[in-house]
Amino acid sequence: MPGCGQRPGSLDGQQDGAGRVLGLVAHVSLIPGGRDGLTLGSWEANMDILVVGGGIGGLTAALALARDGHRVRVLEKAVRFAELGAGLQLAPNATRVLERLGVLGHVLEAGVRPRRLLLRSALAAAELTALDLGEPFTSRYRAPYVVLHRSDLLAILHDACQASGVVLCPRKDVQAVTDDAGAATAECADGTSYQAAAVIAADGLHSGVRRLFTGDQPVCSGFVAYRGTARIDEVTARSELDEVVAWIGPDLHFVQYPLRAGEIYNQVAVFRSQRYAADPGLDDGQWGGPDELDEAFQACCPQVREATGFLWRDRWWPMYDREPLAGWTRGRIALLGDAAHPMLQYLAQGACQAIEDADALARVLAACPGPHLIGKALAEYAQTRAPHAARVQRTARVWGDIWHVSGVGALLRDELFRRRPADDYSYTDWLYAGPRTHAL
Ligand SMILES: Cc1cc2nc3c(=O)[nH]c(=O)nc-3n(C[C@H](O)[C@H](O)[C@H](O)COP(=O)(O)OP(=O)(O)OC[C@H]3O[C@@H](n4cnc5c(N)ncnc54)[C@H](O)[C@@H]3O)c2cc1C
Repeated sequence: MPGCGQRPGSLDGQQDGAGRVLGLVAHVSLIPGGRDGLTLGSWEANMDILVVGGGIGGLTAALALARDGHRVRVLEKAVRFAELGAGLQLAPNATRVLERLGVLGHVLEAGVRPRRLLLRSALAAAELTALDLGEPFTSRYRAPYVVLHRSDLLAILHDACQASGVVLCPRKDVQAVTDDAGAATAECADGTSYQAAAVIAADGLHSGVRRLFTGDQPVCSGFVAYRGTARIDEVTARSELDEVVAWIGPDLHFVQYPLRAGEIYNQVAVFRSQRYAADPGLDDGQWGGPDELDEAFQACCPQVREATGFLWRDRWWPMYDREPLAGWTRGRIALLGDAAHPMLQYLAQGACQAIEDADALARVLAACPGPHLIGKALAEYAQTRAPHAARVQRTARVWGDIWHVSGVGALLRDELFRRRPADDYSYTDWLYAGPRTHAL
């Protein structure tokens, strides 16, 4: 289990950026009641907020803010609000927030509550260790562990946003974000622009708004992920149907869990590309192809080898993260989710941390007396969240190294894993209990 909790070290990578991302200037179309209306510059606590990016992070933030009475508009580049990929694991640090937002019921209906997180050897198939997700787990963390289809979660958030009055705008490619003259402005490629008391940038790993804060680049791990779903009856070599199973081995792993009331099986295969290792200058698409997938999983046990046949082979995801960033806010502009802290997926926490961000953001803005103090409130949000998110980013890397180790390291790992009881939660408290309640 994710027990390699590092101390939150010093944060780096921050530098002064220009006051504007890209440079497209366009005519201004105000949020109703915007800059020249009643809210900006007034002392009203309910504010106009722009969210850039309508992924899980952006929509959760929009929902949390709208439920507190803020007027929220989401600008999403894509033609519709959608999620790529299939399954998503939501740990209690996220489901607790979803419960507060009133959507956990729908999430539980759409998802599956797994019995255990189980680690198996990808080579020998032997069970290595497990984390029991039953009643003691749920009461300890005051929320359940759920797996569900990404598109189901996005649809739930989308509907809840609409019901809460969030204005959802697809086809809005935000090209520039500025903070001046008492307002934050987002300018879109189609020539429209919007003003608000704050801009929350939830525009993902390749965030353009992040360039205001740092000139850093995504860091390539050299690993690639394949995803896929299969009808449950198609997968004969499946593992336990009510568990999240990760088969781990040298430089690879394979994750399986059921979705949609156990009707479909979600699978993710991850491996280190030898082609990339030999030539890290290669572009994405030039490495990690299906030939490498087949080769990487050749030595695995029959269950894993057979299951790789159910992966989508026309698309694969090179795995990137970034170095932690200390400063997520600048005046009226703040980063959230992968834009702030993209991480490798080994702890299954990227979306969970984005959901935690949304909760923290809503809390500080709820306590903010009005737009004149929003910069202070956003700074407080970053102070609350950045050290913890940095720790998760760093630990995800280490957890991946532990999964992918070979030789003597693997022998020692397996021995330690086997001694761990499934109800030992000492390694997960820091992650699942939430940053405000570490001391369980
Ligand atoms: C293989 C894999 C498995 C994973 N499994 C898990 C898991 O089990 N649990 C978990 O918690 N996390 C998991 N993650 C991580 C998780 O998917 C991400 O951390 C999460 O989706 C990030 O959400 P986000 O909203 O911050 O960013 P994104 O989902 O990237 O959303 C960003 C949005 O911004 C939009 N956008 C971008 N640029 C602009 C622009 N200029 N203008 C307007 N809109 C823009 C994009 O179109 C997109 O809709 C996994 C990741 C991978 C790769």
